[in-house]
Amino acid sequence: MIYFTVGPSQLYPTVASHMRDSIGREIMSLHHRSEEFQNLYKETARELRILFEIPESFHIFFTGSSLENMERVIENTVEKKSLHIVTGAFGKKFFQIAKELGKEPISAVIEPPLRPGFVGQADSRKPIDSIEVSDDVELLALTQNETSMGVVVPMDEIASLKKKYPHLLVALDIVSSGPYLPVDYSVVDIAFLSVQKLLGLPAGMGILIVNDKAIQKAKQLQDKGVSIGSVHNFVTLAKAEEKYFTNETPNVLGLYLLSQVLKDMNKVGLETLRKQTKEKAQKIYEYFENHSVFSPFVRDTSLRSDTTIVIDVKGKSEELLSFAKKKGFAIGEGYGEYAKEHIRIGNFPAHTMGNVEHLLSVIDAFV
Ligand SMILES: *Cc1c(COP(=O)(O)O)cnc(C)c1O
Repeated sequence: MIYFTVGPSQLYPTVASHMRDSIGREIMSLHHRSEEFQNLYKETARELRILFEIPESFHIFFTGSSLENMERVIENTVEKKSLHIVTGAFGKKFFQIAKELGKEPISAVIEPPLRPGFVGQADSRKPIDSIEVSDDVELLALTQNETSMGVVVPMDEIASLKKKYPHLLVALDIVSSGPYLPVDYSVVDIAFLSVQKLLGLPAGMGILIVNDKAIQKAKQLQDKGVSIGSVHNFVTLAKAEEKYFTNETPNVLGLYLLSQVLKDMNKVGLETLRKQTKEKAQKIYEYFENHSVFSPFVRDTSLRSDTTIVIDVKGKSEELLSFAKKKGFAIGEGYGEYAKEHIRIGNFPAHTMGNVEHLLSVIDAFV
């Protein structure tokens, strides 16, 4: 089976051999207070900085997942108010987590993403930098690539909003866009992702990238008596990172596989990975633009995701998915209420152009 699902997805082709090596190298028995572990943490962070173009001044922490990352971000940077730019289900989840933590989040739905056919109509779209932000907002939370709807948020609009409100901390969910879409780390204070999307690894690990300003905020909240959590708060995470340790007994196998796949991807190089992703996305969109029945869900090409491609299949999702499965291809169904209306195609580094062409020929045979 080739997995074109949006995460978990197809494993990066080298994962199997790294998995075998991990047994020979006894990685799973590696003690988390050993020098070998410190080297593994260091090496993984170094490879991450290269592939994701993360400045030296940012800290890199390992967590359990990106829903956890959302919780950590809210706890550690928000006393009362966060503003959430919601373009779909994951942005909404970020907002809900803030609510459940007892904060007073505000959501700005810039697209009406939950109404079919509405996304990206030029006259309905308010650019992000047109949003008014009140003085008491502490954190701006955004989803760079909304996996549920296949919508991206342009980095230059985030930058221009931050310019108007420089006091704001900006947290960007890059779970289904990194390292494909560039992140401007002079604008973003916190970014986070999970390993099961573009990195093509088994799920179960989150990566949290934060600057000193965010850690300072966590310290301020702590000094004020606001709870910032315990095991994975920014202060304890930073303290452990200083020694290249983790507080808990970590997912050492996950960390090892991550370090190896990062090395493999860095050998290919970010520029090549981006170019290949773009070419595959163009191929997929071109096919559906010319399809007699199906069409891309997001009409505005400047907002279209290249990594999680959402296609309106006119209610035929279930049949198409089961047809493709019989031919050896797993595709994602639509998100939530769009389960039957949409299909979602993950376009990650693990997918080759050959895989894409084969997938499209299967879809072509469906109608
Ligand atoms: C998958 C995904 C998440 C959740 O990641 P987990 O690792 O499952 O917690 C969050 N945001 C976006 C945009 C995603 O695609």
